[in-house]
Amino acid sequence: MEASRDIQIQATKVPHLVILPFPFQGHINPMLQLATLLHSKGFSITVIHTHSNSPNPSNFPNFNFEPIPDGLSDGQLWTEDPITLAFILNESCQAPFLDRLSRLLSDGPVTCIITDELFYFTEAVADQLKLPRILLGTSSATCATTMASLKLLQQNGLLSITDGQPNTPIPEIPPLRIKDIPGIGTTDPDTFEQVGANVHNAMRSALGYIMNTFDGLESTALVKIRQDIHPVSLFAMGPLYKFSPRSSNSLLTQDYSCMAWLDKQAPQTVIYVSFGSLASFDKRDLVEIAWGLANSDQPFLWVVRPGSIHSHDWVELPEGFEEKTQKRGRIIKWAPQQEVLAHPSVGGFWTHNGWNSTLESMCEGVPMLCCPYLWDQMVIARYASHVWRVGMQLENGFDRIEIEWAVRRLMVEIEGKEIRERVSALKENAMRCIAKGGSSYESLEGLVDLIMSF
Ligand code: UDP
Repeated sequence: MEASRDIQIQATKVPHLVILPFPFQGHINPMLQLATLLHSKGFSITVIHTHSNSPNPSNFPNFNFEPIPDGLSDGQLWTEDPITLAFILNESCQAPFLDRLSRLLSDGPVTCIITDELFYFTEAVADQLKLPRILLGTSSATCATTMASLKLLQQNGLLSITDGQPNTPIPEIPPLRIKDIPGIGTTDPDTFEQVGANVHNAMRSALGYIMNTFDGLESTALVKIRQDIHPVSLFAMGPLYKFSPRSSNSLLTQDYSCMAWLDKQAPQTVIYVSFGSLASFDKRDLVEIAWGLANSDQPFLWVVRPGSIHSHDWVELPEGFEEKTQKRGRIIKWAPQQEVLAHPSVGGFWTHNGWNSTLESMCEGVPMLCCPYLWDQMVIARYASHVWRVGMQLENGFDRIEIEWAVRRLMVEIEGKEIRERVSALKENAMRCIAKGGSSYESLEGLVDLIMSF
């Protein structure tokens, strides 16, 4: 089912939106998908972006791109903890953003700014320039409600993270356990808390909050956000990658040669393995993953991103691995992930449960093997496996025997088949949400009305 596209603004002057993505792949993708969607409805778009991880303007010939300095040194984007980076970027981007936006305003009106929620400094800039500000949240609604609940539990002295064992359940927020808490194990809990509080505070004065999710998946969390967290308009408009006209946002070159390889595989036999743009591993983990895949005897397409192995640009795979897997395995450095997941040969996705990857898997009807790495991924993995029941979680890190067993369970056993049936239903549900009259479609109508009222 295709989303209907007949929301179109009628205005004598084209309204101008300025967007500011946060410079990580998982944040750039939904922001540019949103911008592409709004452009298709008649808005003019300027993207203000950091020098680091800048999107490729030639992929968006109808947008205006304005780079700003971000103060990061070479490689800092990859060596710094993501939350520390959020803190640094909020400090370093405020003045350049204000400057660039002021210059844009001297050339003509700006209707509204839409920024990633992690850029909390934009509250002060919007206030100073008297511009309406709307936020895009790039994680799941459930994560937002989990963070709010955890804060309350901690304030009331009902949760002590340090006393509990990792597998201890937190009865107030089932099915989460201590080890599923975002930020657990962070090396800098103070910055984590500070950034969380700043994001939360800046959210309250925004005029709208867009989320890349859909009612059919997270209605309970969305109701809670509407009631308790965000007092103004909430627009659940996901899955944006399906709702928006297709665009290319990838920061790395996607290796399309894997599509021809997938064409040669039997339907639903290939497990696609990718842990997103930020996760990194020890060499030992890589060896366990390799042997787990090899011993599972299932075809696989595995993304090994350069730089994803600690202290190595690239590592050789264990001796004997290639020989054992060459007829049924393929390794690439970066995939056209949405196309891969939509390919009929792909029957499973071993994922870190970044929110984009999780949505893409669900919305292509692909069951998941969940292996979260950090932050919101732990909550998403737990919900994917225990609430939405569209995946199974690998619980004990990387162990070749456990991996071999889990891959087989997902790909060839009855448990995997049942998961496939549930995730196919969820896919249909997502498509209904973005079709005319669906909840995401109506949210888009509401957002357009809100912007046109400024
Ligand atoms: N992605 C991709 N090719 C790959 C792996 C990932 O294009 O080989 C895309 C993927 O489709 C998703 C994004 O990168 O949209 C990753 O975002 P996610 O939120 O899943 O994880 P993060 O990278 O932020 O940890």
